Amino acid sequence: MLELNQIRKEYRDGTQTITAVSLDHLTVQPGEQLALVGPSGSGKTTLLHLISGLLTPTRGEIRLDGLTISGLPEARRDIWRANTVGYVFQKFNLLTSLNVLDNVVVAMSFAQVIPTADQRSWAVQLLEQVGLADKLKQYPRQLSMGEQQRVAVARAVVNKPRLILADEPTASLDQENSAKVLDMLRRFAAESHSILLVSTHDRQVMSLFPRIHSLQQSGKEVAADAPLPSLA
Ligand code: ADP
Ligand code: MG
Repeated sequence: MLELNQIRKEYRDGTQTITAVSLDHLTVQPGEQLALVGPSGSGKTTLLHLISGLLTPTRGEIRLDGLTISGLPEARRDIWRANTVGYVFQKFNLLTSLNVLDNVVVAMSFAQVIPTADQRSWAVQLLEQVGLADKLKQYPRQLSMGEQQRVAVARAVVNKPRLILADEPTASLDQENSAKVLDMLRRFAAESHSILLVSTHDRQVMSLFPRIHSLQQSGKEVAADAPLPSLA
């Protein structure tokens, strides 16, 4: 279970303090899939960075399965993240000097989940599942954006993470590729009973999720059957 309590993230900008995230309470059960919605600047990226331990909150506590992530020393947090979190970025963030297969394999070398002897065959299997069997030796620059994001999805799920976080994963994609990428994320998360959090300001993406958490309404949750939040 993922639990966030009284979270605040503030940035100091000279004499000014900017509150990037202010969230009272959020609990997500294993296997739950949740859309995190809000307009640009509402704190989606900051919140995902907090949950993944890339940032620490100014105040409050973030726990996964009873472990307080925000309290871990940085080195422990890096290991925890490699083993526990799969992260999909809006702009893919693939390593340009590595081919498709190695982009996925390298993610396993930072974690201790998949035995070394099985790593290549597991990466190939995942890349086949996302429809890239014939692109294993290509480099990211040789792929379409949709293909790059599918590599990023394979990389994010390769260590069978408890927590899959995707930050506007479809923002750079057309409708067909968006649907593919979301379908893959949702399928992988369901198969491994992982938590899936997808940030978005796209209504079509929101409509796919049984649960929506709106950041715009100062951390209030909206019912799945309620009208979608206004993004004006
Ligand atoms: P979103 O992903 O929803 O667009 P962000 O999390 O990127 O929102 O940003 C939330 C707010 O925090 C914005 O007002 C942004 O300008 C501010 N912010 C984000 N990162 C920093 C930073 N490193 N320093 C100062 N302000 C920041
Ligand atoms: Mg963002």
